[in-house]
Amino acid sequence: MAAADAADPTRQLVLGVDLDGVCGDHTEAFRRVVATDRGLDPSTLPDQTTWTFAEWGLDDEAFLELHRRGVLEHRMFRSMPAMPDVAETLWRLSDAGVWIRLITHRLYANWGHAVAVGDTVAWLDDVGIPYRDLCFLGDKPEIEADLYIDDAPHNVEALRAAGNEVIVFDQPYNRHLDGLRARSWREVEELVLEHLISAGYSVQQQFTGLDDGAARVRGALRGSK
Ligand SMILES: [Mg+2]
Repeated sequence: MAAADAADPTRQLVLGVDLDGVCGDHTEAFRRVVATDRGLDPSTLPDQTTWTFAEWGLDDEAFLELHRRGVLEHRMFRSMPAMPDVAETLWRLSDAGVWIRLITHRLYANWGHAVAVGDTVAWLDDVGIPYRDLCFLGDKPEIEADLYIDDAPHNVEALRAAGNEVIVFDQPYNRHLDGLRARSWREVEELVLEHLISAGYSVQQQFTGLDDGAARVRGALRGSK
């Protein structure tokens, strides 16, 4: 985004944050679904090194059917493990003046939208992830953010082809992509803060000890901060 915009003290950097494979460990959640379906120990399934789960012997049809059951029967969007440090980091970035805009493509299928949306927002509250917007998108990856974080090779390439800056959230299936890359949420924080400063945004400091980071969402829900 233009430096002139960033110089406006009321202007916030909009960070577009993908959910699956970035905030939540989608591979691990789906691993449990596939292992349960086959009566296997989840650890016997190899790492996901391709976007299409070919290493687990799934073709497109088998993937879609297992994923449907994962969402509707196993409620994987409700129970997905969170990535380490994701909530705490997003709270610090939010406190620094970053506008968190979550993006997800979880409505790619024509079924189960109520479960997918309901489980997603309940999971976000449970994990304690802060956000100003939550965008459920189809194919189009772009939602007018100043900086994006995504793991899907096709999304990263499409966003960059449209002139956007994208941080690749490191996964075994996206190692062929070059450019900005974060291997953890700590590295995401460093890259976003560097971007804030180099683009001329003012950075606000979080006052330590006043709030309990990610626990604020859960505290607010209980009515006791
Ligand atoms: Mg993703």
